[in-house]
Amino acid sequence: MGKPILGIKNVDTFYGKIHALKDVSFEVNEAEIVTLIGSNGAGKTTTLNTISSILKPAKGEIVFNGQTISRIAPHIVAKGGIAHVPEGRKIFPKMTVEENLEMGAFRFNDNNKIKKNMDYVFELFPRLLERKKQKGGTLSGGEQQMLAMGRALMSEPTLLLLDEPSMGLAPLLVELIFESIKRLNSEGITILLVEQNAHKALKIAHRGYVLQTGSIVLTGTGAELLQNEMVKEAYLG
Ligand code: ATP
Repeated sequence: MGKPILGIKNVDTFYGKIHALKDVSFEVNEAEIVTLIGSNGAGKTTTLNTISSILKPAKGEIVFNGQTISRIAPHIVAKGGIAHVPEGRKIFPKMTVEENLEMGAFRFNDNNKIKKNMDYVFELFPRLLERKKQKGGTLSGGEQQMLAMGRALMSEPTLLLLDEPSMGLAPLLVELIFESIKRLNSEGITILLVEQNAHKALKIAHRGYVLQTGSIVLTGTGAELLQNEMVKEAYLG
């Protein structure tokens, strides 16, 4: 596995008085798929929002490619190569598929590059090509997930943060999304994946961390965590 690309170091994050992340530390290495698993309210979304700088940690730091990013604006973090696909997708419902994708290409002015990246997204998710003139809000949940991922890919990220990409999707679409995550990783994109579907996430992940009420309580390879008794009992049901 490659060198560390992302380091979360002793991070505490609060919402007012609510102490959501407590001394959280972990790393993601280049070319890995790392998954964060945990129950509702464990702090998974808060972790991703702290990495992409939507939330500022009260303590600790986030280091990306050797640079501290925990005190800089979210759009600068995004420009640096971290793309965040948020929980609930948050696509632009009144814009077409094509326009949503163009929004993701905010780093580039070069139309050829934007077209090339859009062709890549359409090759990855042919359904989006069929729907390219359709408004985002009219897409199914699965198509909106493809669009949210496609929009993130338009910025050519080195690190992709995925928050519950399979949430609410029918089994075939869940498969398709997981297959696309594996493919993106095989093409060199490092992935930090937050999932309720711990079984599927651990199956594709090189490594994983378990978050419980704001603290990391366990780590291991995907295979190790799948065999771990506590993980089996609490998350693999
Ligand atoms: P879920 O799967 O339900 O999204 P999660 O593991 O992503 O769970 P977070 O959403 O990160 O958990 O929440 C961590 C803690 O912070 C929870 O106790 C939650 O109630 C609290 N929290 C999250 N967002 C806010 C907010 N905007 N204001 C106040 N408290 C919040």
